[in-house]
Amino acid sequence: MTGWSRRRWLAGTATAGLLAATRPVSATSQGGLPWYNWSGNQSSQPISRFAPGSEDELVQFLRTTNGAVRPVGAGHSFSPLVPTDGHLVVLDRMAGLLEHNSETVQATFAAGTRLGSCGALLDPIGQAMFNLPDIDRQTLAGATSTATHGTGIGFNTLSGYITGLRLVTATGEVLDIDAENNSALFDAARAGLGALGIVTQIRMQNRTPYRLKEQNWVERTETVLEHFDESARAHRHFEMFPLVHSDYALVLAIDETIEPINNPRPSPEEAAAFGQVMQSWLALPPGKRKPLINGLAEGIEPSEAVDVSHKILANVRNNRFNEMEYSVPIEAGAQCLREILATIERQAIDVVFPLEFRYIKGDDLWLSMFSGGDRAAISIHRAADFDYRPYFDAIEPIFWKYDGRPHWGKCHTLEHAALSSLYPRLADFINLRAELDPSGRFLNDHLRKIFGIAS
Ligand SMILES: Cc1cc2nc3c(=O)[nH]c(=O)nc-3n(C[C@H](O)[C@H](O)[C@H](O)COP(=O)(O)OP(=O)(O)OC[C@H]3O[C@@H](n4cnc5c(N)ncnc54)[C@H](O)[C@@H]3O)c2cc1C
Repeated sequence: MTGWSRRRWLAGTATAGLLAATRPVSATSQGGLPWYNWSGNQSSQPISRFAPGSEDELVQFLRTTNGAVRPVGAGHSFSPLVPTDGHLVVLDRMAGLLEHNSETVQATFAAGTRLGSCGALLDPIGQAMFNLPDIDRQTLAGATSTATHGTGIGFNTLSGYITGLRLVTATGEVLDIDAENNSALFDAARAGLGALGIVTQIRMQNRTPYRLKEQNWVERTETVLEHFDESARAHRHFEMFPLVHSDYALVLAIDETIEPINNPRPSPEEAAAFGQVMQSWLALPPGKRKPLINGLAEGIEPSEAVDVSHKILANVRNNRFNEMEYSVPIEAGAQCLREILATIERQAIDVVFPLEFRYIKGDDLWLSMFSGGDRAAISIHRAADFDYRPYFDAIEPIFWKYDGRPHWGKCHTLEHAALSSLYPRLADFINLRAELDPSGRFLNDHLRKIFGIAS
């Protein structure tokens, strides 16, 4: 079928899988209402919601209240990092560009700034972010707290571009942290899971504004995998979306360009039409879908788009899903992916969402999924109105075989013992957390499991 592109496929996949309504994400400051995350798989009933308008108000709040506190960003994590029956602190009112330095090309943002606002705020001051994740609805503090990353063997997670931050501790103390000033806390707090305190300001290392050209095409998954290392090094960003129950993958390469802007987006009608095609596959048993999907994939036309960097790097994902992502050592990436695809096929798992396979540069942040070396991140998705657990339960042990580390913000079932062997600095993080917050105000059930603290 001609006229279909990678963008239409991904938009259509979501439409096909997500016809049922999802629960609204609450953003109110009123107490008593339940809180839900983006996909609706996490919820809680906080005793209050507090949205400080300034750091002073936040300090005052922490000094004059008792009980558990959890900071929330945009609620885009799939794991239960946020749920609390204590106080939920929302930094939506603490957003925007605070200051910048043209010589160092750094800019300081209030921590509640959405990633999607950063591009427009940075452009007039001659700066742009190096990279972005797949979407840009997250807050800067929320995204960096889980070491959120984009694609690219040459690029760190967003946390890796932090050059300084401000943290308000459980007792209301304000700490200014950077590589020189409390370097241990700096390495812990740049990806701190909201467990060390509430981040109020973040200074980012940026670069001059630039344009990107994305190229999309379809290729046999095995062929892409054979040359993946080469391609990942040849392009600024390179990733693939293997189509389950097929032999093909959608491929995406992004490079810098000076070509004129030309960025056609699929219309909602096109996405809906493609969603309907995909719905028709769902009527077939998974084992019978391959010829159909292969046929459709072979007809997909290559496409291109050029735009300013932040408009190419981030996508819009209006339809909800749940996701599991593990990162494995780069040399194990292809084999791990092959085993996942073979398991989906062998077990005839009824899923239409493509997988995502990308490389990310190693770093030395204590809790970064990429600490200690470059890794391949592999994601699996399930539409939000389906029970994701049977699918994720079938795949998660494959990640464990390859020393996979779960993304902190995505679904996983690992607890303290297993995480300790994957993260050499987890014990240091736990000690630092105990020093900063001895009464455990910033803990919830999930963090207790991660840190091995009895409830
Ligand atoms: C559609 C979709 C696409 C995604 N794509 C990617 C991707 O491409 N790459 C990737 O790596 N991840 C991706 N994610 C995961 C997402 O980026 C992370 O889960 C991220 O942490 C969510 O940010 P948030 O602002 O919603 O924070 P939340 O989910 O609200 O919170 C995340 C963590 O940050 C803490 N936190 C929030 N604000 C503060 C603060 N001010 N101070 C201290 N701690 C704070 C919270 O307590 C929590 O521990 C995606 C998620 C979705 C839903």
